[in-house]
Amino acid sequence: MIALLLAASVAINTSHIKIPERYRGDAVVMTWYTTPETIAKVCGGNAVRACLIERDGMKMMLVRNPCYRADIEQQAEDECHEKGHFLGWSKEHEK
Ligand SMILES: [Zn+2]
Repeated sequence: MIALLLAASVAINTSHIKIPERYRGDAVVMTWYTTPETIAKVCGGNAVRACLIERDGMKMMLVRNPCYRADIEQQAEDECHEKGHFLGWSKEHEK
């Protein structure tokens, strides 16, 4: 499954980036809560905390499993960021 999902991954390491207001709305997003190791494999790099991938028109975000994460504010930021991409925010934002 991981190999199939690699093609359209979008990676982030972007805690300082302000997500535009128009991409902060409600959404229903399929989410894979997983380990940093799986995120690194699927999203493409050890520095990546989360990503949104697309396969056959289906989008899914990968984020850390919050049950094993102490920095919960970072969790919220990661999910807000990837939800922004789900809602159409370009992956070509500032780095
Ligand atoms: Zn991004």
